[in-house]
Amino acid sequence: MHPPPFETVAMTVLGIDLLRYLLAAGAAWLVVFVLLRRRLAGRRILGAAPRPGQVRHELTYSMATVFVFAAHGLLTYLLAEAGRLQLYAEAARHGWAWWWLSLAGVIVAHDAWFYWTHRLLHHRRLFAAVHGVHHQSRHPTPWAAYSFHPLEAWVQAAFLPLWLALVPTHTGVVGLFLLHMIVRNVIGHCSHELMPRSAVPGGWLGFMTPVSHHHYHHAHNRGNYGLYFTWWDRWCGTEDREYQRLGAGSAGAPPARAGRSAA
Ligand SMILES: [Zn+2]
Ligand SMILES: [Zn+2]
Repeated sequence: MHPPPFETVAMTVLGIDLLRYLLAAGAAWLVVFVLLRRRLAGRRILGAAPRPGQVRHELTYSMATVFVFAAHGLLTYLLAEAGRLQLYAEAARHGWAWWWLSLAGVIVAHDAWFYWTHRLLHHRRLFAAVHGVHHQSRHPTPWAAYSFHPLEAWVQAAFLPLWLALVPTHTGVVGLFLLHMIVRNVIGHCSHELMPRSAVPGGWLGFMTPVSHHHYHHAHNRGNYGLYFTWWDRWCGTEDREYQRLGAGSAGAPPARAGRSAA
């Protein structure tokens, strides 16, 4: 069977990357900022309110990121076609135990990649030239999910082809990994605490990052560098102090109140 023409592949990858962002960010925006706006008002973190022009900024840079991600997606496809990646399509090749293990592995590895590249991007010079774009949103909206300087988008997109060059991974695992990434990314920029009480510091789900975790990072421009899990920030002593105090009572109305009293 002939492989599909290059233009078809390119447009398909671009379409998937664009839809992934628009559908996830759009759905979160619609639910949190429009439909349930009043019901979730008590869950606003630090009295969050986007500043005028912020959503336009977030959308503009996110569109640039969609193109960078699509370019990487295309590169990944071409490398896979050339047999340079350990991507496989038959689940039986490595068995189901490996399927689930590699899914956990790629998520944990991406969290580590994000933590350390994110900390590097907070170096004074890199922050001024690159990462400051993302921090223009002090109180982000879901549209900020891809709001990166193109250079930062390249750094984040580089993770998957590097992983696939080293670790045998089923195509379905890649799909779930990408789905999990956009869902957690969009939720992390919702400015309202949507996670259950057990996800705050000290709770049994405290190893997972609640919305407050990344929101405090935006509000304070430092600390809480992790993406999915809190452990790197704990191990490295970079967890935000005010965020740690949320353990006393968050995830309902309290984040907004705790934030206001702390501000
Ligand atoms: Zn940052
Ligand atoms: Zn962010």
